[in-house]
Amino acid sequence: MAAEAVKEEGAEAKPKAEKQTNCPSCNKLIKKLKRYYRDGKFYCSKRCWRAFIDKSKTEEKK
Ligand SMILES: [Zn+2]
Repeated sequence: MAAEAVKEEGAEAKPKAEKQTNCPSCNKLIKKLKRYYRDGKFYCSKRCWRAFIDKSKTEEKK
């Protein structure tokens, strides 16, 4: 039983950091879409990058 729990824990701790496939702004899947790379992240467009930056700025102000 204990071994089983450990096994489950290990599965959950599996590193999820593979390739970023979703736009951080609109959460769209970025595949063959135009990729816009900024600050270590991919966005589907410049617009989404701007939206994401604006959003984080607004959150900072709070
Ligand atoms: Zn997007």
